[in-house]
Amino acid sequence: MAYGAHRSPLLPPRPDLTLARDCEQCLGWGTVVTRDGDHELCRGCQPGALDEEGCSGPGL
Ligand SMILES: [Zn+2]
Repeated sequence: MAYGAHRSPLLPPRPDLTLARDCEQCLGWGTVVTRDGDHELCRGCQPGALDEEGCSGPGL
């Protein structure tokens, strides 16, 4: 029964650091900080990041 296990109620998503290692967008973190200050999966390297907005297809 140890308290204090969870500090922040808002946990950032869990990125795949193996994919993020060579990414320039997140610099290896796998997550990026949005304008609102939230952490979200890096769209440059995390396959699970594309769930919102209608962006389809890699690149522009
Ligand atoms: Zn990345």
